[in-house]
Parts: sequence; C-alpha cells; structure tokens
Amino acid sequence: MKIEYAYNTDDIIKLKKNYIYINYRKISQQDVLPYFIFLNTAVGVKVRKITTRKLWMLKDKFKQRLHDLIHSQLIGTNGTHIQTLIGLEEACDGCEKCSNIAQKCLEYGPLRFSTLQTMIYSKNYKKLHVTDKLFEDIAEYCFAKSKNKEECYKELDETILSTISCDKLAIWINETRVLPNDEENHMHMPREVIDIILRKWNVKSIKLSMLHKTNEYVCRDEWLRYDYFTRVRLNDPYSKTKQSDLKFNHVEVSLSYSQECVRGLGNLPPESEPPGGYDNFIPNIRRIFPTDRITMDLSHWFAVARKDIEKKMSTILQVVTMEKPQNLSLDMKFFVQSGTVKKLNEETNKEELLGIASGYVLQENRLHCFKKSSPFIGGKGPKVFLDNKWIGRRFHIEDTVNQFNFNLDVYIKEKELEEEFNEELLQEYPNSFVRHFFA
Ligand SMILES: [Zn+2]
Ligand SMILES: [Zn+2]
Ligand SMILES: [Zn+2]
Repeated sequence: MKIEYAYNTDDIIKLKKNYIYINYRKISQQDVLPYFIFLNTAVGVKVRKITTRKLWMLKDKFKQRLHDLIHSQLIGTNGTHIQTLIGLEEACDGCEKCSNIAQKCLEYGPLRFSTLQTMIYSKNYKKLHVTDKLFEDIAEYCFAKSKNKEECYKELDETILSTISCDKLAIWINETRVLPNDEENHMHMPREVIDIILRKWNVKSIKLSMLHKTNEYVCRDEWLRYDYFTRVRLNDPYSKTKQSDLKFNHVEVSLSYSQECVRGLGNLPPESEPPGGYDNFIPNIRRIFPTDRITMDLSHWFAVARKDIEKKMSTILQVVTMEKPQNLSLDMKFFVQSGTVKKLNEETNKEELLGIASGYVLQENRLHCFKKSSPFIGGKGPKVFLDNKWIGRRFHIEDTVNQFNFNLDVYIKEKELEEEFNEELLQEYPNSFVRHFFA
C-alpha cells in the first residue's frame, strides 16, 4: 500500500496540504479514516507492506493524525501481518510505536537515531533504510560522548551492534542539505560510520537513492570541526576517496527523485549549474561500495532530459568512462521527452531529427515499462495517477579488454511517439535516433 504526498515538479512547496494519495488516488483529510475502516471491514485486507512518502509536507495536525491512523487501523498494536514499513518516521521523527514495529518487519526504515538505539535485539533484516542524516547523527552522538578520537571510536563500536544484520542497505541521500553560510549541496558523510555499519550489519548489496528535498536538510557540523572522522561525498573528486576492501553483489541507484545528480550526469561543466561534481558519482560508488554491477534508474518525471539526445548520450558516455572502469557492468535507464530527439534548424525553420551519439551500438531488445504520472492542472494534483507506457531501446558499449559493459536503455513515452512524429519526417531521416523506435 502506498500512501504519499505528491507535488508538481514546477511548484515550490509553499502551502502544506490537507490531502494525500493512497494507492495513487487522492483522498482528502476527512476521508482517510472512513477509507481505512472500509479496507478493514468491507474488504478485510491484511496490509503487509506500507510505503509512505513525503508525509512531512502535510499540515502538522493531519500528519500526526495520519501517522496514528496508519498504526491503529492498518498495522495494529501487535503488527501481526506487517512485513514492510517505509517512511513513516518522517511523520513522527521516530517514536515508540514505530520502533516497536521496526522489530517485527523484514524491511524497515529510514531509521531515526532514536529507533536505532532501540535495536539491541538480534535480527536479520531483508532490507534496512538509513539516511545521510542518520550517519551524521551517529557521528555527532559519538563525538559528544567522548574526549578524544579513541573514545569516539569506542563509542561508535558500541552504538552499531553486530546482532543486527541486513541483506540490503538502502541509503537515502539528500542533495540539497545546508551548512550555515553555505550553498545547498550533498553534504559530507562520516566514512567510518558508513564502513562500520556495512561491516557489522553484514550488508550484501546496496541501494542508493538521491533525493532532491527532504525535511532533514539542516546539517549538524560539530563533528566537522575535528578530524575524528573522514569526510566523504559522492560528488567530491574521486581520486581522494579511499578504496574500501569490502565487496557488494550489486549497487542499485535510484535517481527518480533526484535533480542535481541526474543533471550532473547529463551535463558536464561548464554547462552544469552548481552544485557540480556528479561526474565523480560512479567512481566514488566503486570506492565506497565496491561492486562489479551497478544499475541506475534516472528520473522519469522530475528532471527528464529535454534537449539534444545526441549530446546527452555522449556526455553520459564521457561520464561513465571517465575513470576507464574495469570489471564493471553498468545498466542505466534513461527517460527522455520526445523533444530531445529533434532540433529546429534556424535557417530553414524546419524540424530535423538527431542521430545516435557515436560509440553506441543499437541492440535488438524491445523494451517497455510503466510509470505512474498525471498532469497537475493549475497547481492542483490529479484525482488519480495513471500508468503511462514508455517504450525503450537499448544502446550498448562494450570494452572487452577492460571487461566493461554498459547498457543505456533510453525510454520515450508511447503517447509522445504516436503523436509527435509523422511518417514523412521519419523517412527523411532513416538513421535518426527516434526512427529505431518505429522499427
Ligand atoms: Zn512513529
Ligand atoms: Zn535544486
Ligand atoms: Zn555485450
């Protein structure tokens, strides 16, 4: 079950709202309880999985009430059926009800520090979610409780317990955090805190989610004034990042809610706006979370490419091969607007179709996927979010010497393909990029 607040990408969030989307359908504040009761009594559902998103954007009273209703109506005090609970601590900042349920779930998080402190039991989680803010809170806590570096590391060792293990660790990173007097950026994380979690929890694979905004944007910076912890950031120059001796099966990267990182991968300086440095993203991942397999989903709604597919594809190729990677298989899902494949010739005032960036080899694969989205009209969200079909083609790069395999799967909305290209134009450009979507 998905319970989320959705907002327009063009809107800056000014007004806290009094409605929510439940399974992609708009439900107003007063209808939430009747709807939950209906689910319980009429339908008799046993909710196993609850994902909430951006509840912190709701009006405070509604947020608190929704948090309590989710517990009382959907989960129940015993939490007998619940297996997955994601995002609810955004509403309460960590509470006893939530931490009790954390103990019953197979997948849980993101954890607030107070919930982490209750995890003194022994349990193997399928998946735990943490945030960059949690890493910082752990560093600050250990730092505050100690007089020197040695004591600080001892405290850290006692804070992260090896009775907990998790197969997959999902790390949520906010791209626009702030230090006093600084620009918005992805902020430094304490490396030793990350490393001890990876080790003690026996993490086997990683999911990284880059998020443009969260409610945890203000940084605490006491730990930064001392050299107890090494600072790492995924958009810092990778040559300074120490190579970890751990190894992970897979690193899955979600950029669905990213703006800065997605932009940084498709535009190199000087065209990218600050904060930059995201060309270091993949090399840094391979140093902090060593792996031979990375999959990345770029955004399908938040920062979709609008211009010049040829250039975008060649920039992406430049970025992913910057380090001359070895033993890496990289899959990227890239969602574009149909406008990226055309260009207006200013002299003839005619539309032209762009080609495929050099280096890529088109594969036979016929791909498609479905993504939920519906337009906002006049700042008002849709009644329901509908599925859109996206059609994809695979473009391949292979370097057998270095064992580097890269698949760039480019997706365009089926509706845009149907509406915006006529046969005549396609025939005029037989080698164009978009023509392959009709073949
Ligand atoms: Zn709670
Ligand atoms: Zn921004
Ligand atoms: Zn191949």
